[in-house]
Amino acid sequence: MPVFDVQQFRQQFAFFQHNPNWVYLDNAATMHKPNAVVQAIIEFYQQHNSNVHRGAHQLSQQATLLFEQARGTVGNYINAEFNHEIIFTSGATAALNQIAFGLMHSLLKAGDRILLTQLEHHANIVPWQLHCQRFGVIIDVVPLTAEHQLDLVAYQQLLALKPKVVSFSHISNVLGHIQPVAQMVALAKDAGAVTVIDGAQGIVYEQPDMQQLNCDFYVFSGHKVYGPTGIGVLYGKTQWLERLTPVFGGGEMIDEVSFAKTSFNQLPFRLEAGTPNIVGAIGLMAALSWLQHYNVADIKAHKSLLLKAFYQGLATINAIDILSQPAHNAGIVALNVNNEHHSDVAELLNQQHVAVRSGQHCAMPLFSYLAQPGAVRFSFAAYNTLDDVNRCLLALEQSVEILT
Ligand code: PLP
Repeated sequence: MPVFDVQQFRQQFAFFQHNPNWVYLDNAATMHKPNAVVQAIIEFYQQHNSNVHRGAHQLSQQATLLFEQARGTVGNYINAEFNHEIIFTSGATAALNQIAFGLMHSLLKAGDRILLTQLEHHANIVPWQLHCQRFGVIIDVVPLTAEHQLDLVAYQQLLALKPKVVSFSHISNVLGHIQPVAQMVALAKDAGAVTVIDGAQGIVYEQPDMQQLNCDFYVFSGHKVYGPTGIGVLYGKTQWLERLTPVFGGGEMIDEVSFAKTSFNQLPFRLEAGTPNIVGAIGLMAALSWLQHYNVADIKAHKSLLLKAFYQGLATINAIDILSQPAHNAGIVALNVNNEHHSDVAELLNQQHVAVRSGQHCAMPLFSYLAQPGAVRFSFAAYNTLDDVNRCLLALEQSVEILT
């Protein structure tokens, strides 16, 4: 008897009632939203809509209360020490840009090194690169092993070069491999580096505990954890958030402004210029509150079951080249069919109502390393069923037959 009732879970997504003929396996790109989130968004606009932190009236005070409650919910969810350590951004990309900009302008100087890994999403490469060239900061890259896992021996050798910042993803958005983040943070700390974790894929796999993990920064997007698009989180330890030079200036982030000099507001407002995505934060609060009704371990077990069935099915289909390992995998599988183009495979799956993503998945350096032009990516979520897996396998088998 499974502990996790997938049908009960799935029923809370109107999307699946409207689209019963679709198998949605593009969850690493974005997830569907439970009714609780849609309702919270409607309710805010219908009943509470006002700007935050600036109105003299009661409606604005109510909106402010909800917005700050959202900050508290996120803080509790990831066990941040203080609520002001939660900065709302538009997503993981915006958060990483803020960190890179902020550290480049405050901490790093010419000749310093930062350490990234071969499997990073462009959002954890380009923001650093934008400034490295100008500031003369050197980027080192942790390579992968033959099994496409991070090479931890090489990681330690690169840490010996004393990078000032180490930034890596919790879970690869292409391969699904879960990085040993706790160990990586501890080693980076021993080497004296500031640690940044790109949790865009990690946040939905587990409930990361900031105080236990002890990283300096952790970022994620709301839309990959059942929340709305356009809202994201930059978590940072107080001492590091205070050192970040703001990337955006404007209203709310200031204390005093004159043409001679501007002084900044306190955290978290110092890093939240302009009107924030109020309803996005409230939608994210609804998503995390709703998700807490479920047990993370039960969801993990359900996703492992789906992954196992998917790998078993793949083993019976000829001409498949799987890039992802089943061990330490969060539920993302990248593969190719012989020498067929990944977009042809994805299109044939699309014609059979199986939604996947194909291409280089914003990780071109990883694909150069793998010497592959791209891949088809299947990403599973808690609302997927064994029936979804079987329908996908059947569609894949038919696509292979057509192509080969
Ligand atoms: N990092 C990783 C690992 C991702 O998978 C993604 C999105 O796919 C991002 C960063 C960027 O997220 P967003 O586009 O929501 O800002």
